Amino acid sequence: MAHIRFRAVEEAHKRSPQLVEVGSGNISDLFAVNVFDREKMRRYLTREAYESVISAIDEGRRIDRRIASQVASGMKAWAMERGATHYTHWFHPLNGATAEKHDAFFSLTKEGHAVESFSGDLLVQQEPDASSFPSGGIRNTFEARGYTAWDPSSPAFVLEQTLCIPTIFVSYTGEALDFKTPHLKSLAALDKAAAAVCTYFDKDVKKVQVTLGWEQEYFLVDEALYNARPDLALCGRTIMGHAAAKDQQLEDHYFGSIPERVSAFMRNFETEAYKLGIPVKTRHNEVAPNQFECAPIFEEANLAVDHNQLIMSLMDKIARKHKFRVLFHEKPFKGINGSGKHCNWSMLTDTGVNLLSPGGTPKNNMQFIAFLVNTVKAVYDHSALLIGSIAGEGNSHRLGAHEAPPAIMSVFIGRTLSQVLDDLEERVSEKKMSPDEKTELKLDIGKIPEILLDNTDRNRTSPFAFTGNRFEFRAVGSSASCASPLIVLNTAVANQLNLFRTQVDELIEAGVKKDEAIFQCIRKVIIESKPVRFEGNGYSKEWLEEAVSRGLHNIPDAVEAFKTFLLPSSIKLLTENGVLTERELEARYDIRNEIFSKKVQIEARVLGDLAINHIVPIAIAYQNVLITNVKGIKELFSIDEDFQHLAGPQLQSIRKISEHVRAIRELVKELVEVRKESNLISDMPALADAYAHKVKPFLEEIRYHIDKLELIVDDEMWPLPKYRELLFVR
Ligand code: ADP
Ligand code: MG
Repeated sequence: MAHIRFRAVEEAHKRSPQLVEVGSGNISDLFAVNVFDREKMRRYLTREAYESVISAIDEGRRIDRRIASQVASGMKAWAMERGATHYTHWFHPLNGATAEKHDAFFSLTKEGHAVESFSGDLLVQQEPDASSFPSGGIRNTFEARGYTAWDPSSPAFVLEQTLCIPTIFVSYTGEALDFKTPHLKSLAALDKAAAAVCTYFDKDVKKVQVTLGWEQEYFLVDEALYNARPDLALCGRTIMGHAAAKDQQLEDHYFGSIPERVSAFMRNFETEAYKLGIPVKTRHNEVAPNQFECAPIFEEANLAVDHNQLIMSLMDKIARKHKFRVLFHEKPFKGINGSGKHCNWSMLTDTGVNLLSPGGTPKNNMQFIAFLVNTVKAVYDHSALLIGSIAGEGNSHRLGAHEAPPAIMSVFIGRTLSQVLDDLEERVSEKKMSPDEKTELKLDIGKIPEILLDNTDRNRTSPFAFTGNRFEFRAVGSSASCASPLIVLNTAVANQLNLFRTQVDELIEAGVKKDEAIFQCIRKVIIESKPVRFEGNGYSKEWLEEAVSRGLHNIPDAVEAFKTFLLPSSIKLLTENGVLTERELEARYDIRNEIFSKKVQIEARVLGDLAINHIVPIAIAYQNVLITNVKGIKELFSIDEDFQHLAGPQLQSIRKISEHVRAIRELVKELVEVRKESNLISDMPALADAYAHKVKPFLEEIRYHIDKLELIVDDEMWPLPKYRELLFVR
């Protein structure tokens, strides 16, 4: 059997680095050629249609059907010139994937002539058969329809002969079945709340956008090795495998040069990304061997989320051309750095001001501090839900292990800013300040270094860190949609800003001067949110204890974390801000649990199969080799002392193999029983609970014995590619 493994290793070793011709050229010539962006709209749409789409994007205005027809025909003309023959509504159902159903432009006239057609109706709305997407009980089986509706704020694009139209996905009764719908609502809520607070500082601000720059981590594994590992192929991660003698302890991968074959893959997907208008900017090795990262220049959040979804599917496709498989799983290899997706988040006004960047004048910096502290407070108030938003089966293997943030929400802002906040807290009070005190305070605030970027000590252990001009949410899993945490973050910040404004206005109405009212409210927010601020080492044991004593949430268990969806504070936040209804939240809660159960179920099945049909037979075969050897020794050395000396180690291995084989057999049998029992549960949260706490522990136990066998059994016979091969062959 092992020949499969060695053939795979040999195949992987022999690959030429340049499997696919990767074209060269200026990025600026390629950039967005396949995107129906403003410039193309201007060329292909009537003036009326163009203006209507622009006001839909900028002001959220509706586009009427007549105009939609004009847009559709312009879009079709452009797409056909780019080689498109089909179109699809492109959306993100709650299973985290990207969904598309391609229809041809082609249709027949009454006379039977073929024509290319694409109407406004088809652009605006479609009814995909939605029954195969998770709905968490929102759609009854008799009402299996859902519909997709055009999101004009994310431009259409052409991908491999198909015009893709970004859409939202909702049930027939109007409930959201995707990430985009509530994300757009949260962005609108934040826009309104932030713009209102901005008017204290700058009357010209009319609109505030959320900006998002994601950093996508991933692993690459050679295709032949991947195919020889059923666990990788079916679960996206290895569920067995002993650590390699060397992995990341020398820390030589991070700054190492990118292997040639990998860089050919990177150039290839980056080129395709540029054509789709995705501004990929950095690429580098990550901490673990065969782990890499790519990050774009930040964009408006809705677009950035779409681009992240798009690039993940692009990378998957292009990796195959290079005979690689890309792994987005949060923890493909035990004991080795996992993969995250850092979400860099900030707010940008339509006057071009980054609200989380100090500005060098007292007024700008007061505004900066107002937004900073209100964000910290929002994270504090909804930290449990934020953990819930990033929880999942995959991420539960990563959080708190090997250079991944813990499942405790804390906020890091750096020494400089901590000082500023402490100072503010001390100097401002509810008493009226003297004009001198006020002037002095303003002057000091004006001195906050304009470029905090270089002054922020980078605390890599914090799940939510201020990095000079943005916050970086690092607990997000590499396979997740950024929209999930952003829905919570945007809404929580919107809610907090509304609260802040109400409080400031109340003081102003009571006769307090505006500046002073703002200072007083900032101080209040600083005091209230203090427990969530933590500047120390988030990986340390002491922090776990201290966090608990501060009343912070530590929820490493994914199934526990899902429960935060239904906390009264979560329901209140999301319903009152019009982002999700209670029914939608319940549905999401169910879906998370369902996905969790399915993942563990698949892993349990794969592990059972591998253990019994791949590992145990090989272990026994090797044991037989040892038995033959022992018998031979016995024949040659009849003196017992000699025999014991020469055959002792083999006898010990024979014994050990039997013990591990027995343990594996028994555990797998129990596992199957527990699984069967669990499968009788129909309530999703209860099912997930059983899978998490009854089924899942068996996986680690069985793995333990398999990994021990890996160390005993002859390498020549071992059937599965080992960690050292999966991680170092490229
Ligand atoms: P690091 O690895 O040091 O965290 P990277 O350069 O890999 O930094 O990634 C930083 C990310 O932060 C990039 O995607 C960048 O575009 C993004 N970013 C920078 N400024 C902002 C901002 N104002 N809002 C959102 N994202 C930002
Ligand atoms: Mg980075």
